[in-house]
Amino acid sequence: MEWDALLTRDPSELLHVRIRRGIREAVQAGELLPGEQLPGVRALAGQLGVNRLTVLKALSALSRAGVLTSSRGKGVFVARAPRSRGGPESRQARVGPFFEGVAEGPDGGPGGNEQAGDALKNVIDAALAPGSISFAAGFPPPEAIPTATIRARLGRLLREEQGAARLGYVSTQGDPGLLAALRELLAERGLRLGPDDHVLVTSGAQQALSLCLDALVQPGEALALESPGYLGAISACRLKRIPMVGVPVDAGGLNPARLESALRREDVSAVYSVPSFQNPTAVTQGLRRRRQLLELTRARGAFLIEDDIYADLRFGGHRVPPIKSLPGSERVIYLGSFSKSLAPGLRLGFLVASGELAAGLRRTKEVMDISTSALSQVLVAELLRSGFYRRHLVRVRRLYRERRDAMLAALADELPGWVRYTRPKGGLHLWVMPERPLDAGRLLARCQQEGVSFSPGSLFFCDGRRSSSLRLNYASHSPAQIGEGVRRLVTCLRKEASR
Ligand code: PMP
Repeated sequence: MEWDALLTRDPSELLHVRIRRGIREAVQAGELLPGEQLPGVRALAGQLGVNRLTVLKALSALSRAGVLTSSRGKGVFVARAPRSRGGPESRQARVGPFFEGVAEGPDGGPGGNEQAGDALKNVIDAALAPGSISFAAGFPPPEAIPTATIRARLGRLLREEQGAARLGYVSTQGDPGLLAALRELLAERGLRLGPDDHVLVTSGAQQALSLCLDALVQPGEALALESPGYLGAISACRLKRIPMVGVPVDAGGLNPARLESALRREDVSAVYSVPSFQNPTAVTQGLRRRRQLLELTRARGAFLIEDDIYADLRFGGHRVPPIKSLPGSERVIYLGSFSKSLAPGLRLGFLVASGELAAGLRRTKEVMDISTSALSQVLVAELLRSGFYRRHLVRVRRLYRERRDAMLAALADELPGWVRYTRPKGGLHLWVMPERPLDAGRLLARCQQEGVSFSPGSLFFCDGRRSSSLRLNYASHSPAQIGEGVRRLVTCLRKEASR
């Protein structure tokens, strides 16, 4: 092994990152074999002409990730069978002011994500309690789901000659009719697929994300994601033991300067972002930001997972082109879903990936669940082809816009001046940021007693930090209920702040 080759890498990366990445790649390429002993820390530092601490930092990260093992007194070795992945560590790029509200500092203690785990269960229980107004849910309400149309079309699809086949298996890639309809839908979003781009139908965007994490993040590598960011991405990383690097979000979305420094500091192989109506803050990245994000990830050779699950729920502002539609986006994987615009229970999502990567993702999905439900696929293909989906979107966008307006009006009337909030132009939720320290767990308990609930902000930070912020879903209730719910919530908030 040419040890000094480790340092000929991208000079803008920090030394310990270069060493860590170099060793990991050497293991993957078979240049370093399982069981092989590495030079001692002092010797390696001497050969590389770097500080011993720098080497130690790189080696301990690789040991945590299961790439190396060390045995006291014997030395450091390449692991025989690399452990699945590193510990559930999470690193937080210093959080900027915009979305933090009043951070009480990272911790794993009360108020952090541990307690938030219980909070989530409590929120769901409270949402189901009669008379309760829940702003916690992240999905469409029953009145936004076209149940009658789905029932009628499903009946017809099953009565037709191919009825039984529609309850059979379908190719892993997806139903050909749906794949064709998706290409048209994507073109309407400004994403025209080239010959090397492939659509893969998935069981929800969550499966698409999980496939991407398995394919793109190798042991020892990290995922960079928005902070605050999508809870399902954080949970997936925790389960897969993928280290997370939180990148702050500001009013324009994921902050590129913070991303740049995170990419320089950490061994990040993929970045996950929700550029439109981000979950949980609802902010949207403009075209300039999207270009910057693409450039930064390209320059690092990292992948970019672009989750555009709210694409069809825009009710204001102009459409910003997806990052996957920009030149040079071969390493961007685009995710979509019908969960928010039709019904989450259809479990119908998709991804767009280019080249060999697309084939790899398809093979992994085949092993995971063979295919996504054929029935859901032919149903959605039919809803797209017949024009029903577009008409339905007009209705649900109107419904959500009305409810968003009701919530913004109630917040403007009720909230004290020290609480800021975002004004979404699409999606289902907004983000409220009290600028005074608040114990969100206690606030939630108080709110639940008064018959209203929300999702506490701490759920959305990958390092489990405390946050005073709240995510409110405005899609689930009538304007009158929204007004009543906001009044109850703000009464509790004022009481909690004056304790
Ligand atoms: N991405 C984001 C940003 C989400 O909010 C959600 C669901 N809340 C998902 C992905 C998962 O969606 P699906 O139901 O399509 O798996």
